[in-house]
Amino acid sequence: MDKGPHLIKKIPDMMNIVKVHKQNQIIGFVPTMGFLHKGHISLIQSARKDNDIVVVSIFVNPKQFAPNEDIDRYPRNIKRDIEICREQGVDYIFYPCAEEMYPNGFQTSVSLSELTKGLCGKSRPTHFSGVTTVLTKLFNIIQPDNVYFGQKDAQQAVIVKQMIKDLNYPITMHILPIIREDNGIAMSSRNKYLSAGQMKNAEVLNKSLKLAETLIKQGERNCNRLKKIIYHKIENENRNSNANIKIDYIEIVNFDNLQPIENVRTNTLIAIAVFIGQTRLIDNIVIK
Ligand code: AMP
Repeated sequence: MDKGPHLIKKIPDMMNIVKVHKQNQIIGFVPTMGFLHKGHISLIQSARKDNDIVVVSIFVNPKQFAPNEDIDRYPRNIKRDIEICREQGVDYIFYPCAEEMYPNGFQTSVSLSELTKGLCGKSRPTHFSGVTTVLTKLFNIIQPDNVYFGQKDAQQAVIVKQMIKDLNYPITMHILPIIREDNGIAMSSRNKYLSAGQMKNAEVLNKSLKLAETLIKQGERNCNRLKKIIYHKIENENRNSNANIKIDYIEIVNFDNLQPIENVRTNTLIAIAVFIGQTRLIDNIVIK
């Protein structure tokens, strides 16, 4: 067989390919919405190390966008994505269209009752059921042994871990660290929306998390005080620019169950979401 990546657009084709490999090979799967960057590449590289076969999906999933979130604006570049996958030794790119995944009459949704309520779930109430519905389909189609997710989307990672457990998928989940630009900004396809000035403003997300981390190292444990400090850092940092910055949330929770906590302890997640102009960015750190 010639070298990959093979671009597969139809579900039955993907399932037939998987059926053959499943007999004696380990399959690693990296779900993405494309417009690949170094964050995605780090997941692909881990998958390449652990598995015989690597499948990357590229699907801008309409079910995880609310009507006001403008899915049509989401950046895409399939040619470049194919090239990146080729360089990384990906075997298959699963690249279905929306009608392939959600044909007329589609009516099932998969959702979790508790983990989706807080953090991003508050301002994006339908987002996570879109994510878990598409992942259920993708897991059934690709039947991976290993799946790779980024800590960048920390709530998503916790939700998927729970879904894998609840639905008895025989899948091992790997959560990999956040890959950042040189200036500390978490890599994201959505950074494409930012002007040079906004990119500079966006540095405050990581800076405020770093400040919290330093204070924790110095002994601060009180989550309310830490949240206030992060809040003021974000509010003050760009005071003198004409940046349009709005905090969506600052939360400090247990990374296992996303429950708010009063005092920092091991495995604490500090997660923030901030609008820079119209673009909503997320970032987080985990205090080990
Ligand atoms: P997306 O294409 O944005 O849906 O992301 C696909 C996967 O890549 C998700 O598991 C993300 O958490 C992960 N990811 C996105 N950005 C980063 C990053 N900067 N570092 C590590 N993983 C990332």
